[in-house]
Amino acid sequence: MEMTFESILLPGVDAKRPLVIAGPCSAESEEQVLTTGRALAAQGVKIFRAGIWKPRTKPGGFEGVGMIGLPWLQKLKAETGMYTAVEVATKAHVEAALAFGVDILWIGARTTANPFAMQEIADTLQGHDLPVLIKNPVNPDVELWVGGIERIYRAGIHKLGVIHRGFSSADKTIYRNVPNWHIAIELRRRFPNLPIICDPSHIGGRRDLIQPLSQQAMDLGFDGLIIESHCNPDEAWSDAKQQVTPDALKEILSSLVIRDTVKTTEDLVDLRHQIDEIDDKILEILAKRMRISGEVANYKKEHAMPVLQAGRYDEILTKRSEQGSALGMSPEFVKEVFEAIHAESVRKQIEIINK
Ligand code: PEP
Ligand code: MN
Repeated sequence: MEMTFESILLPGVDAKRPLVIAGPCSAESEEQVLTTGRALAAQGVKIFRAGIWKPRTKPGGFEGVGMIGLPWLQKLKAETGMYTAVEVATKAHVEAALAFGVDILWIGARTTANPFAMQEIADTLQGHDLPVLIKNPVNPDVELWVGGIERIYRAGIHKLGVIHRGFSSADKTIYRNVPNWHIAIELRRRFPNLPIICDPSHIGGRRDLIQPLSQQAMDLGFDGLIIESHCNPDEAWSDAKQQVTPDALKEILSSLVIRDTVKTTEDLVDLRHQIDEIDDKILEILAKRMRISGEVANYKKEHAMPVLQAGRYDEILTKRSEQGSALGMSPEFVKEVFEAIHAESVRKQIEIINK
């Protein structure tokens, strides 16, 4: 679906990278909202985030203060001029946020993947014109993310942005949610004008990962950062481990190196030519490998052998990832490449054998 996005920048918000949204995971009390918000405003943060309704994995945890928190945000806005942003997941949330003058809405990761909830939010937003930020779904699936974006776009909301907050994974990693940067990069490829805001707090799940993740997001050309900040992070009612004080946030932001040069030098053009040539060769070699694998299939067919020989598969993966690692590449990357090549090869062999 063809989509033309409008700018999410509100009056007075700087167009220069990164666009910063900061504030606590959850609004807890008027005092906490005002203390945190004032400190952030003093640093020039223009958009304040706070969860009012919290989606929790298990019932019984702190599920947000609810409606009573919205006047606290209004008060912060009146006092500091900051814009406010909250998460919405239902019609009632959207209506309440609109009634209390919330400026920006975001849709949480658990909601993006739910077409019924997205439709309900889209229907409630009809006729309104505020920016909406759509978090990636918890599943590492770009189509689910795009589907959520399209649903909101169809409601006439064209001030859209996305938040990259990482993905669930069965593998144990240092991250709370694995970044899978390539999924956000794929979204950028499809929609170059759709702003991408990185959420290093929910990707990392740990204070010490926020700076490096933010730098990485900036290096990838992302537009903004949404970072959880709390006046007393250790005592936070949700996500305590990943929240930073407004002072720590200031340090993180000032440490970031923003590389914004758009000029392409001759050297870069030459390097890109070299890469294009290598990519041509990689494709030719892959095609050749597939042809030979077709010959293997014919041999197996003649000799009534099964397509898959587990020992051979294991040998390819183990040997190649060791070899790749000796060549300075990550073994996981090499394994992934060979898994993909092998899968295609098996698919093709099965096709030939059944002909
Ligand atoms: C949040 O931003 O506090 C939140 C709940 O995020 P997510 O939907 O990414 O889990
Ligand atoms: Mn949180």
